[in-house]
Amino acid sequence: MSATSAVSKLDTLITTNPEWTAWLCVVREVAAELSSPSWDANPPRTAVTSDLTPLLAGAVLRPDDRAVARLLDRLSGVARTQGLHALAGDVEHAQEKSSDAALAVFLAAVNGDHLALDLRASRTGASPEGMRTLAQLLPMPYLHACARHWASSPVSNWSQGYCPVCGAWPAFAELRGVERARHLRCGRCGVGWPMPVLACIYCATTDHETLGSLVVDDKKSRFALDVCRGCSGYLKSYTTLQATPADEVLATDLASVEFDLAAIERGFLQPPGPGFALRASLAVAGHVPPSAPRGL
Ligand SMILES: [Zn+2]
Ligand SMILES: [Zn+2]
Repeated sequence: MSATSAVSKLDTLITTNPEWTAWLCVVREVAAELSSPSWDANPPRTAVTSDLTPLLAGAVLRPDDRAVARLLDRLSGVARTQGLHALAGDVEHAQEKSSDAALAVFLAAVNGDHLALDLRASRTGASPEGMRTLAQLLPMPYLHACARHWASSPVSNWSQGYCPVCGAWPAFAELRGVERARHLRCGRCGVGWPMPVLACIYCATTDHETLGSLVVDDKKSRFALDVCRGCSGYLKSYTTLQATPADEVLATDLASVEFDLAAIERGFLQPPGPGFALRASLAVAGHVPPSAPRGL
């Protein structure tokens, strides 16, 4: 089953990179959920979108609040067990375990709302960066379910560098099959979209003098690095015969982290924010959304 293969990929990574064990054990909790149909029950209500706006822009998300709370509890619990207190903090107030608190983290992670996440970090004793790192995992199962919801009606004419579903920058580009057809893959919702044009996905330049590739001393690897000297952005590319299954994109991204480090060492980066700010909201049956004024 696919969930098993996503988890077993992470288990292999733990064996080959024991120094990453603590973080990979946290990721393992979410990897097992990415292909679970239990997140498919409540697809989002979408707003009007265009060729520039991802499907989730302005959407009303309807995740199962108890499932979100359980997942956050598990992620925090494993992080603490593994000694990653910068991610999960030291203290766990009853208030922080409520469904509303978990939904607030969920929405802040979806929207890239760092202020809301910093607030939770200060209450739990996590570091702001650690809290963001942990929180980004929380909405992934629901975002994967959203991507499955639209899988039968793929976005046509999408030519942006950011994800047509969730607005994130891609984790890597795939060069698929013998013809090496280029597709971008989202590490957040798992979706893939064709991007045949060799342009910088961040600043859109097609200037061949500005675009280039970095040689990383690993001749056996199927990964390479594309860079843009105009905006200093980089993107990993991955040569593969077939599309990476959606729930394995995260593990494949982590398996090639030395290429991220090589790019960063040479002064290249990925933009810290999302490609498109979603400004999504929440509606959960029987619950007042955490951001709504009480008493309405
Ligand atoms: Zn996405
Ligand atoms: Zn660029």
